[in-house]
Amino acid sequence: MKQELTAVSKRQQFSYHFSSLMWNVLDWIFPPDCPGCGKQGERFCEKCKNFVQPLTDPLCPVCGEPGKSNAVCDDCLSYPPGFDALRAYAVFDGPVRNALHRLKYRDDISQGDVLSKFLFDLYSCLNWQIDLVTAIPLSKERLRSRGYNQAERIARPFAFRINKPFYANAVERIKNTNSQIDLSLFERRENVSGAFYANSMVVNLKSVIIIDDVSTTGSTISECARALKEAGAEKVYALTVARAPLKGNNTRSG
Ligand SMILES: [Zn+2]
Ligand SMILES: [Zn+2]
Repeated sequence: MKQELTAVSKRQQFSYHFSSLMWNVLDWIFPPDCPGCGKQGERFCEKCKNFVQPLTDPLCPVCGEPGKSNAVCDDCLSYPPGFDALRAYAVFDGPVRNALHRLKYRDDISQGDVLSKFLFDLYSCLNWQIDLVTAIPLSKERLRSRGYNQAERIARPFAFRINKPFYANAVERIKNTNSQIDLSLFERRENVSGAFYANSMVVNLKSVIIIDDVSTTGSTISECARALKEAGAEKVYALTVARAPLKGNNTRSG
C-alpha cells in the first residue's frame, strides 16, 4: 500500500525527544568535549563554530561547487547530475572535519544532532519544497561492521527539525562499492554506477532530500538521486555537512 506522508509522526517525535533526553543524561554523567578545541562540557563550542567556513555564493546552482559566478559549472553542463540541486554547509576543514571524523570513526553519534543544526540553518536559506528525508545508505556489510550509518545519524534529527518524515528505506545500496578516495571524477562515476535501488512505494511523485556527511564530486549522491528519479521521485535535492576537494582529501564520500 502506498505510504501517505504527513509531518513528523508521533513516533518520530517521541524518538527524537527520548534520544535528546538520553544524550543530556549521558552528557551529565560523561561530559563531552568539543571536537574543535577539546573544551570540556560542550559538544561543539561557540568559539569553534566561528571557525567553521560556510560555503556561500558564488556557487554552481546545481552541484554547489564554488566558482567565479552563479552560472551552471562545466561539469554539470557536460554531465548533468541525477539530483536537482546539492549544497554543502561548510568547507571540510577544522572543527567540522573533526566532528565528522568523530561521528564516523569514533562512534560519537551525538555529533549527528549538532551537525543537523548546521544543515537546518542552510536549508532555511533555500527555497526547496520537500516531502520526505532520506540518507545515503551504507551497504549491509559496512552497516554491520560500523554498527550505524553516520549519514542517518544526521538525517534523522534534521528531519525532525524541518518537520518532515524520515525514511531509511527510501533507497538501498545494492552494490558494495570501493572506496572513492583515490579515484578521479570519471572513476567515481563508474564506481557507483548502479549502486542504488529506490523504493517507488515511498518516493513516487515525492520531493526527496538526501542527506550525507561529506560530498566531494557529488557522484555518489548523483547516482542515488538517479535511482530515486527512476522510482518516480519528482524532485531530488541533497545536503551535506561539508564539501571536500577532489584531491588530497581523506574521506570516503564521492
Ligand atoms: Zn571548541
Ligand atoms: Zn555544477
